[in-house]
Amino acid sequence: MVIAVLVTATILVALLIQEFQKQPLINYSKFGFSFSFPSASTIAEEGNESGGTIHCLYESKKESIAIAWWTVEPMSQADVEMVLEDAISNMTIAFEGSNITIEGAGGEISKGEKMSRLACSHQMVYQGVRLEILANSHLTNEVFLVAGVWYCNITHRRFVLLVRSDSSEEIAFREFQRLADSFTCH
Ligand SMILES: [Zn+2]
Repeated sequence: MVIAVLVTATILVALLIQEFQKQPLINYSKFGFSFSFPSASTIAEEGNESGGTIHCLYESKKESIAIAWWTVEPMSQADVEMVLEDAISNMTIAFEGSNITIEGAGGEISKGEKMSRLACSHQMVYQGVRLEILANSHLTNEVFLVAGVWYCNITHRRFVLLVRSDSSEEIAFREFQRLADSFTCH
């Protein structure tokens, strides 16, 4: 029974990933950086080259990405890690019509290991977070987030990338890596 459930869940995730791969990507280029996102998404932006935010809600309504940038003094890798911790603590997620931060979510929070990779030639630190929110006594809702931070020493800005999936951790990580691969910040 447990195996059947796991197999069904694995097939479901595989089908969802196939759906993503079918969607054409379009390139966003503004404020001196660019990335690609699925064309059927709804995008909202505010800011200028010095700082701002972009939110992009996928057609599925279960996945979304957020990008924040800010002009800052030169940052060390330790500074970058601190910003990542802050970003995760203060991350706001919309749940049942109200905005709540992760720390105030009132459910189970599990954070993965901090990892690093390159983002447009800079060292990015990123981390996955799983939230199990107790909506009421008998209903839970799982949310998977991956957040990454880096400092661009060419444009003197720090970038925060966030991918949220209400479907699966695998989708959150795949979308995060795809977004990071597509990103140019200078
Ligand atoms: Zn850069």
